[in-house]
Amino acid sequence: KSPKWAIAYKFKPEVKETKLLDVQYQVGRTGAITPVASLEPVYISGSTVSRCTLHNEEEIKRLDLHLGDTVKVIKSGEIIPKIIEVVTKLRQPDSIPISFAPFCPVCNGELYRGEDSPISYCTNTNCPAQIQRQLEHFCSRDAMDINGLGESLISRFIELGLIKCIQDIFALDYQSIAELDRLGAKSAQNLKAAVEESKTKNFDKVLFALGIRYVGDKTARTLASFFGNIDALLTADIETLKSVPDIGDIVANSVFSYMNNDNNKILIEDLRRIGLNFTFTSDQVSNALSSRTFLVTGTLPSLGRKEIEALVLKHGGKIVSSVSKNLDYLIVGDNAGSKLSKAQKLGSVNIINEADFIGMIEDN
Ligand SMILES: [Zn+2]
Repeated sequence: KSPKWAIAYKFKPEVKETKLLDVQYQVGRTGAITPVASLEPVYISGSTVSRCTLHNEEEIKRLDLHLGDTVKVIKSGEIIPKIIEVVTKLRQPDSIPISFAPFCPVCNGELYRGEDSPISYCTNTNCPAQIQRQLEHFCSRDAMDINGLGESLISRFIELGLIKCIQDIFALDYQSIAELDRLGAKSAQNLKAAVEESKTKNFDKVLFALGIRYVGDKTARTLASFFGNIDALLTADIETLKSVPDIGDIVANSVFSYMNNDNNKILIEDLRRIGLNFTFTSDQVSNALSSRTFLVTGTLPSLGRKEIEALVLKHGGKIVSSVSKNLDYLIVGDNAGSKLSKAQKLGSVNIINEADFIGMIEDN
């Protein structure tokens, strides 16, 4: 159960005033440009905040931000810093309004913004920032899980010309890597083992690793188990994609355009030749939770969130992302938040703990 102070706290977030020093722009793996505010450091709800996302161009307009503005900051959901408003009466008369980046801050590529989206994208497919983020995503734990190949090593390999694209990960020259500063033979050997090990990852991990816009790890798994292999996905028409349970129009369109892009087809063929897994192997061990939906909230006594999710899938259940009438079971741990109160209000959700959950699968 949730302590009373936690609930009271939710409705009255601490508000602090600080100064906006600058706005910088980050480039994501799909080319999405995210403005980030640099703030004069301010202590708020338990930690010092000096940066905060501004999400997109519309948010900058909504706040009508000017350089040097005094802004009110809270921690949204008690975690993520957010500027809620500008204290306009403290604004200097000659201050400059913030206007969104006209070009990609990394490659100077042109930006594209769709009619019904607030997000601008760098359109240069060779944008170094996008390539760096794509490689980081590809190697990340929930994707190919190539241990050791993280942000700093990827950026070093790009600088040294050892990696230019995803395919290059599988053609690394380990002899030269062993001779690099701060690496050595042992690290090179470990990296080689991790790269080889990644070839055993199931198709859903490979699909997630490709970094298709709007395809998170759960969606990747849904698609992998529905289509079974990459060829079915490459040839799927838009209607078939839209018919997949839990796949909406936006995801269907994104997957369709990804699978029909020539560069992506080349990448997929190359990775197939390298030996990555493009056929889904079901790891389901029982039907104990068949067609029932689950969600975890709070900290469980022994199992991590990812472990619970893996167990749900292995026993034929499904993970959903929010509390709604489509949720059958909410697994509750310590410090459960708004999900628990929402489920209690709905009344239709079975509220269980970790032991109850284990009881549901233990004989299978
Ligand atoms: Zn760019």
